[in-house]
Amino acid sequence: MNGEKKLIKKFFHEYFKKNKKLIKYPDEIERREFGFTFYQKPGMYRHISFNSLKELTEFLEWNTPINSHYSSAFFKNPAEREMEKKGWIGAEIVFDIDADHLSIPKDAFSFTWKCNKCGESGFGRKEKCSSCGSYSTSLVFWPNTKNLREAKKEAEKVLFNFLMEDFGLNEKDLLVNFSGQRGYHIHLKKKSFYKLKQKERREILDYLKGVGWKYDLWFRKRGEVVYGPGVFDPGWKGIIARSYSELLSRKEKLTELEISKRKIEEMREKSSLIKNNLQEKPAIWSNESFKLTKKEIGKIVESLLRKNRCSIDETVALDLKKLIRIPNTLHGKTGFQVKTVQIEDLDMFNPLKEAVLETDESVKIKTGIIPEIDLKGEKIGPYKFEEVEVPLSTAVLFILKGEAKLSEPRN
Ligand SMILES: [Zn+2]
Repeated sequence: MNGEKKLIKKFFHEYFKKNKKLIKYPDEIERREFGFTFYQKPGMYRHISFNSLKELTEFLEWNTPINSHYSSAFFKNPAEREMEKKGWIGAEIVFDIDADHLSIPKDAFSFTWKCNKCGESGFGRKEKCSSCGSYSTSLVFWPNTKNLREAKKEAEKVLFNFLMEDFGLNEKDLLVNFSGQRGYHIHLKKKSFYKLKQKERREILDYLKGVGWKYDLWFRKRGEVVYGPGVFDPGWKGIIARSYSELLSRKEKLTELEISKRKIEEMREKSSLIKNNLQEKPAIWSNESFKLTKKEIGKIVESLLRKNRCSIDETVALDLKKLIRIPNTLHGKTGFQVKTVQIEDLDMFNPLKEAVLETDESVKIKTGIIPEIDLKGEKIGPYKFEEVEVPLSTAVLFILKGEAKLSEPRN
């Protein structure tokens, strides 16, 4: 066993040994399928089942998987290999919010690239190797504060604007986890949702994504006055009205509405009037003192729908037998905790502080290419083929990314 492998195995083993009590999920454990991957071993070992949490935590301690998953579904026979024989009973809905799927400018991401042909590497994203010209390059993703903040905002939107507000779910129906690398998983743990099939799950997803609204029906015209959604309306109507009202307070962002310059100037002048009209019951979108055409209303609503829709990985939400990370295990590409976050703590939660394990030890490593990264409130790197001494958890991240080796052999 090489030094890096020993170090990784020890890191995961120690964690699982000390933190058995943190592994509280999944519930109804004997109905779930499990799948694991191991350091430097290809493929996933799946169709595994356990009878108790104790069996699971012992397995984790002695086998030290680097990625640990369980099925969102409940099965009669979870260890059967063939799906028909497993006997599907139901499944939690899991919303996967991933920084990579959000519309953050791509240069805001930290990437490094590596050529699969000649081994050249560098900072940023590169599709073509600058040394040999090959198009076979791989990207390494590095978690960073900025895109994790965006992912958290998105998770809060899903939770607060939709699941809690519109679906009436509360803390005990929801389980929120940092995914361990670049986003969040929201588990919907309410039994009445478990039996929903794909078609019904699609309806929920479409609602969160603001898809398929015939918003023409939200408006009606009486003489010169157009009535529409108001800020006190429930659901999407209220979201659209409040978002429109907010937008009028932040003047510089009005261009998002994709309507004419002249109209935007008029809106700026009359913003307090429009905001008052949106508070009326019924709310007024257009009248003699401020006129909007049907087309202008359409453009406003469409851009506000786009702005407020949730960005969720569809395949995960619709999959009735998805394997998802076990809360409070570790992530095999970072060594970070797949940490359960209480909903009331989400606002202050910083994964690059709180999901990075505290370690006393430091380790001497030889690095590859590593961008600057903010870990535990400290800036680390950038490094380019350097010999450095870093905290153990940082060394684990770098080794798991394939960008560091130990300087000296260890015992
Ligand atoms: Zn190359």
